[in-house]
Amino acid sequence: MVKEPDLKAFKQQLLARQQKLADLIQPKADRVDDKGHKSADQQAQIEWSQINKALKRIEDGTFGQCVVCGEAITHARLSAYPHTPFCGSCVNP
Ligand SMILES: [Zn+2]
Repeated sequence: MVKEPDLKAFKQQLLARQQKLADLIQPKADRVDDKGHKSADQQAQIEWSQINKALKRIEDGTFGQCVVCGEAITHARLSAYPHTPFCGSCVNP
């Protein structure tokens, strides 16, 4: 279970990252097709939606639990990837 102060810190981190990604995605959205930057944009969009889901898990109180096995995700892992829905063993079986 992630402690309340940590949860707030992760939320701030996620919101800040999401804001950066939104800036990245939106201005180029109408001219990605010919430029070959599409995969980078798709990557940003995938991360954006993962962050969105992580924020929902904070609301639900399930943040920090692996969505596959339900085990707690380690603090070190959450610090590195606060948006991750997987614990270390599920991402590297
Ligand atoms: Zn797991």
